[in-house]
Amino acid sequence: MTTFAAGTTDYIALDEQWSTHNYHPLPVVIAEAEGAWVTDVTGKRYLDFLAGYSALNFGHRHPALVAAAVEQLGRVTLTSRAFHHDQLGLFCRELAELTGTELVLPMNSGAEAVESAVKVARKWAYQVKGIPDGQAQIVVAGSNFHGRTTTIVSFSTDETARADFGPFTPGFVTVKYGDADALADAITERTAAVLLEPVQGEAGVVVPPEGYLARARQLCDEAGALLIADEIQSGLARTGTLFALDHEGVRADLYTLGKALGGGIMPVSAVVGRRDVLGVLRPGEHGSTFGGNPLACAVGRAVISLLATGEFQERSATLGRHLHARLGELVGHGLAEVRGRGLWAGVDIAPGRLTGRQASEALATRGVLCKETHDNTLRIAPPLVVTAEELDRGVDALAEVITGA
Ligand SMILES: *Cc1c(COP(=O)(O)O)cnc(C)c1O
Repeated sequence: MTTFAAGTTDYIALDEQWSTHNYHPLPVVIAEAEGAWVTDVTGKRYLDFLAGYSALNFGHRHPALVAAAVEQLGRVTLTSRAFHHDQLGLFCRELAELTGTELVLPMNSGAEAVESAVKVARKWAYQVKGIPDGQAQIVVAGSNFHGRTTTIVSFSTDETARADFGPFTPGFVTVKYGDADALADAITERTAAVLLEPVQGEAGVVVPPEGYLARARQLCDEAGALLIADEIQSGLARTGTLFALDHEGVRADLYTLGKALGGGIMPVSAVVGRRDVLGVLRPGEHGSTFGGNPLACAVGRAVISLLATGEFQERSATLGRHLHARLGELVGHGLAEVRGRGLWAGVDIAPGRLTGRQASEALATRGVLCKETHDNTLRIAPPLVVTAEELDRGVDALAEVITGA
């Protein structure tokens, strides 16, 4: 492997010359990381307040996760699904037990999990619910984020994510997020499923009004439609519970999982849920060369072990109260609004101050990494291994930045 004796600007120039410009990263070049901290190529350390959009819920290189990966690297990494291997069934059983579900469909990226849920819901609609062929609809929410494939951007309301990528996949109906009456109006006998993020991350960590998710569940039950919860970012302890849906005591028929399921080491995703729904898939109808591979399953099993202790859910709940109390003090003092749940916050910077981009750049200078979403919103999602002192340090830096101190 070649290493360049180069500074930050040289690495950035390389990226700009050789990689497609589908991202606009902060000018920080990370070389190493551990726990809640990363170190750049110049040796400067930063507190990671983004945690890979929740892919790093357990922090960077959690020892138990690295150990599981190393152990599996010494045994077998890939078989393809042409053959059985000794990690798949255990991973699926342990994930089903953790999530209280019956069947697991393993994939790799989050977008693939969502695609898989869409396909399964459609097939279930034709074969079980009896919707006429080709007429199944899936109701989705405005300002959603479910990934980047052609079908998924077909039901995005973000023009940047959609423009010039048509023609789009039909069969989706969009309603305003958080508006239960709009949802009720949109559901018909052709509705196969309602697909929702229990908290909308990309939209700015938007928590729906109390009762919305329970009402969505009730509407789905009345219409014989599936409730699909996209918990790729909100799930696996991020909000202080295993699923964000748990805050309202609501169960989905299908959950899409990803991000933290791979422990920040591997892309590991899954659809988990009801046997009679996921059970519609037959051999040859769906799959992925890497989905459910031995290395992914071994890392996923170690993630499941960490979640089974409840420690990370508890940390997120307790430290989340601290984070939100501290951020709340800044409302009216540079912040217009703070939203979120657990160790997850969307903060709107007061108008006339810095843009989100300027704030995230200023925070990086002060050794705190987070990222803007939309013009003046910052998304804060520290790894769940962060300490209260580290949270204070990050919030103090934010206070300085937004008040121009
Ligand atoms: C990140 C995310 C996805 C897409 O996951 P990828 O691994 O980036 O494909 C889907 N849904 C939600 C809610 C997400 O946060």
